[in-house]
Amino acid sequence: MLDWLGNRADSLWYWVIAVVFLMLAAWETVRPARPDSGTLLWRWSSNFGIYAVNASILGLLAPAAIIEAYLEARGFPRLFAGLGNVCGDWVVLLAGIVVLDLYAYLLHRVQHASFLLWRLHAVHHADADMDASTTVRHHPGEFVLSSIIGATVAALIGLPVWVFPVYALIAISISLIQHANARLPERLDRLAQTVLVTPGMHRVHHSVDAAEYNGNYGTVLSIWDRMFGTYRQRPHGQDVVAFGVDPFTAPRYARPHWALLLPFALSPTTIQPAADSHAD
Ligand SMILES: [Zn+2]
Ligand SMILES: [Zn+2]
Repeated sequence: MLDWLGNRADSLWYWVIAVVFLMLAAWETVRPARPDSGTLLWRWSSNFGIYAVNASILGLLAPAAIIEAYLEARGFPRLFAGLGNVCGDWVVLLAGIVVLDLYAYLLHRVQHASFLLWRLHAVHHADADMDASTTVRHHPGEFVLSSIIGATVAALIGLPVWVFPVYALIAISISLIQHANARLPERLDRLAQTVLVTPGMHRVHHSVDAAEYNGNYGTVLSIWDRMFGTYRQRPHGQDVVAFGVDPFTAPRYARPHWALLLPFALSPTTIQPAADSHAD
């Protein structure tokens, strides 16, 4: 059993986030991709404040363990347990990472299609500037919903609980890099997009332009966007310059209360169907 790997990912969680974040913050300070818009302190207090709320909720709910225990008690089939018996735990881990990443893609896509879910998810997009702290800016309502749905799906297919923290640690490390106010050389970024969701790809997803933010929904693997026709790319040499959700891009919306109140202030006009792809 690879329980130890899940336990290790759990115990290293805050250490890995802190180390990756500090390295990126140093990079953002020395070679920022965009100049500071003057909202850094408000944005950091909003983003880390939200993260503290979400981490507390997760500690109280532990949805994966609760739902797995419930389904086990009810005798539901455990497909992944069967896979583990035949192929071993490392195959379960790899398959689990792929399945959780597909779930993340599908949920993200629905969040952009349903106005009810967009109200919550727009809080992540409404960070008028983008840096590594944007990674953890997810409204508590979105966080609770996605945790419960994800845990239910995983428990129904019998995904072992220990796969969660391993995938989550990979996903948040890559997400921190995707959101950093730092730029990889374009050629390297595009090469990595063959398999991974890169900073260049995720920047397009944070564009203020609906034709761009309605695409590139992937978290770790870029294959889902390519497979399902939602891959967006700008022409060579043209990077995104404006982030956020119109009309909430003014500096005053960087303040913490706006991060929580935004779902109640959005109008349906802020969610628009995807236009033609910018694929080149
Ligand atoms: Zn999104
Ligand atoms: Zn993002």
